[in-house]
Amino acid sequence: MVTGHGMTKAYLHRFKITHSPECVCANGDQTVDRLIFDCPKLEKEREKLRNSIYIERRRLASAEMRSSEQIPKPIQTVYKFH
Ligand SMILES: [Zn+2]
Repeated sequence: MVTGHGMTKAYLHRFKITHSPECVCANGDQTVDRLIFDCPKLEKEREKLRNSIYIERRRLASAEMRSSEQIPKPIQTVYKFH
């Protein structure tokens, strides 16, 4: 999917494996970009992904803050200059 290739209908249609490249939402060809960013049929999954990314970013930020609190101040200062 990251490379723009995947088992989308647009991709399979190029190789005549499916009759139509159109997405099930009927808003155009079913491409990787449409599935990730636009297809209304996947809005719930997109929202779950956004939430899990948000939670993970907060968890990492919190862990980063905790680890920097454990480093003594003089070492933190030296670390900032590198
Ligand atoms: Zn769609």
